[in-house]
Amino acid sequence: MKTTIVLLGPPGAGKGTQGEKLTDEFGYVRLSTGDMLREAVRNGTELGKKAKEYMDAGALVPNDLIINLMKEKIAGINGGVLLDGFPRTVEQADALAEQMEVDLALNFDVADEELVSRLTQRRSCPNCNAVYHLVTKKPAKEGVCDKCGAALYQRDDDKEATVRNRLEVYRKNTMPLIDYYSKKGTLVTIEGSGDIDAIFEQVKKAIQ
Ligand code: AMP
Repeated sequence: MKTTIVLLGPPGAGKGTQGEKLTDEFGYVRLSTGDMLREAVRNGTELGKKAKEYMDAGALVPNDLIINLMKEKIAGINGGVLLDGFPRTVEQADALAEQMEVDLALNFDVADEELVSRLTQRRSCPNCNAVYHLVTKKPAKEGVCDKCGAALYQRDDDKEATVRNRLEVYRKNTMPLIDYYSKKGTLVTIEGSGDIDAIFEQVKKAIQ
């Protein structure tokens, strides 16, 4: 079984949803830079204050802040780990390579128009970070997280104008990582459209 897995793909491709399932079923530790940054913003930490304006604009937070943050988190891990939303640039991938070897880069491929629709209809839990969709992954009770009971919300950066910018930023800065991991021989691309459980079957094959 693969132990260090990078979840790659544009925003809305299903990294969070599939990552959550891998965590539930196989006990991976999931480190999501987006979740960490949102928590830092909510808590008003130094990192949160520095990151907020980039996040609001759908831009990337500067590499040095992210690399420092992840260095600390990764140092404390031994066992299976899923990196969700990191690395997002070649510079971040190089920094990660210095610290640990990546066994598998799982790349979720989804068409742009579907991403826009998924993200604008996404609802998130501010407490446990679970994600839902108004049509395809509804919570049992409207507006309430199935896992922890907190009230769901729409992320500011899931509104349409910011979503388009995030997709642009993904194409320019993060897409080169597909090539990066392909050259290292660790890339597996998964067709990320369709039924969540059917996609998870492909994910399970890839991690064996
Ligand atoms: P996410 O929840 O992964 O969609 O991330 C939300 C936002 O956090 C992104 O639009 C960026 O502003 C910021 N962010 C998350 N991860 C990174 C990263 N690895 N590098 C730079 N910025 C990041």
